[in-house]
Amino acid sequence: MTDTSADLVVLGGGSGGYACAFRAAELGLSVVLIEKDKLGGTCLHRGCIPTKALLHAAEVADSARDADQFGVKTAFEGIDIHGVNKYKENIIAGLYKGLQGLAKAHKVTLVEGAGTLVDANTVEVNGTRYTGKNVVLATGSYSKTIPGLELGGRIIASEQALNLDFVPEKVVVLGGGVIGVEFASVWRSFGAEVTIVEALPHLVPNEDEFISKRLERSFRRRGIKFKTGVKFTGAEQTDSGVTVSLENGEQLEADIMLVAVGRGPNTAGHGFEEAGVQLERGFVRTDERLRTNLPGVYAVGDIVPGLQLAHRGFQQGIFIAEDIAGLNPQPIDEAGIPRVTYSHPEVASVGLTEAAAKEQYGSVETFTYDLAGNGKSQILKTSGAVKLVRVTDGPVVGLHLIGDRVGELIGEAQLIYNWEALPEDVAPLVHAHPTQTEALGEAHLALAGKPLHVHG
Ligand SMILES: Cc1cc2nc3c(=O)[nH]c(=O)nc-3n(C[C@H](O)[C@H](O)[C@H](O)COP(=O)(O)OP(=O)(O)OC[C@H]3O[C@@H](n4cnc5c(N)ncnc54)[C@H](O)[C@@H]3O)c2cc1C
Repeated sequence: MTDTSADLVVLGGGSGGYACAFRAAELGLSVVLIEKDKLGGTCLHRGCIPTKALLHAAEVADSARDADQFGVKTAFEGIDIHGVNKYKENIIAGLYKGLQGLAKAHKVTLVEGAGTLVDANTVEVNGTRYTGKNVVLATGSYSKTIPGLELGGRIIASEQALNLDFVPEKVVVLGGGVIGVEFASVWRSFGAEVTIVEALPHLVPNEDEFISKRLERSFRRRGIKFKTGVKFTGAEQTDSGVTVSLENGEQLEADIMLVAVGRGPNTAGHGFEEAGVQLERGFVRTDERLRTNLPGVYAVGDIVPGLQLAHRGFQQGIFIAEDIAGLNPQPIDEAGIPRVTYSHPEVASVGLTEAAAKEQYGSVETFTYDLAGNGKSQILKTSGAVKLVRVTDGPVVGLHLIGDRVGELIGEAQLIYNWEALPEDVAPLVHAHPTQTEALGEAHLALAGKPLHVHG
């Protein structure tokens, strides 16, 4: 048995794992990065990037279909799904190549194969043992289903949904969270009849309720159907379709059903428990410095309880590398991580919902600025709003946005939250006109007591 040693061994080459590996290498540590599939993980190959490519194709389809409202004559002839998939694959391929180049440039030793944690310093891959002064677990997540519901055939998860070679005519999407809502948005733009089934009372149930309701209004207008507050009880498939049953006795017919009920931690079968790593409902238990109970072993990304987002994985990976290198970084504020749902319209938020802020701080003030007053949004013909939540006489602790392209505004929103800005700090900052960023400026002006383009 060969033995190879390094300062750091990272198990899993997704967003969290590779970010940690690259930062550690930058800090002068020798790094072994073990990946059984493709460097880049879920986000690049089966997650963020391909879904956003589909969503962009969907936006182009909508623009073509609705061009006459801007006085532009076009004819929308339909979706060439092979062309869409080719466009998507080309983007992934280009980014994948770039990432492989970055791994080389950082002089990270990339090991191909499935790794098993043997003990706090050792990971074994195909009979070779890699030892590290530190080990980082970064094995990511998988698409969950619900008990009794087997994936297969016409009942698919996001991995299959991304690679369909046809546009379904009728779809049921089980789960109204981020992934479900994004696929519903794509398929509707591609011309499908879509129904979302969500057991909780609202779509995007983790968002501020005001935003959920606005999204529901927009989806209604787009003809996306949804059944909220109702449980799914079963699905039966035949050669020609799938029948979905709900607890209220309703039955929905569809060509396919997407199961988007969340992602489970991929922590079984890699030796974690056997090596003594403590798990909690399958997730790896860590402290706020992302240390597991085994000395020298850290965990990063989707296997750590919390938001399952690529940029959280990047930040956690950087944090761990810096912690190991002795830079003593500040623990990450989970609420300060921006969240974007890239549907049409987009939803973006950072910080606390109004309900959570009330619970945490007692007295809060809110202000909602409607995009009806924002010139650029009117030019784009998007409706939406910006909602701010501030602690009474204190900082802005929640920023919630809805409208086309508002995902791009989250950069400023997250600075405001993370720098604990008062509305009075933001109010004097000038926003270019006409941009959608002005909506953020206007909302802060109003909350600071000096509204400009606000009626009533
Ligand atoms: C459809 C979809 C859309 C998404 N869209 C977004 C988005 O727009 N924005 C966003 O921020 N996030 C998005 N996400 C979430 C994002 O993809 C994840 O949060 C992110 O990929 C998590 O990174 P990770 O490093 O924890 O795990 P992963 O990216 O899952 O990487 C884990 C890696 O470990 C490897 N691995 C597992 N076990 C072993 C083993 N034993 N040995 C060797 N290698 C192993 C896997 O092959 C994989 O490459 C989306 C997810 C999905 C499914």
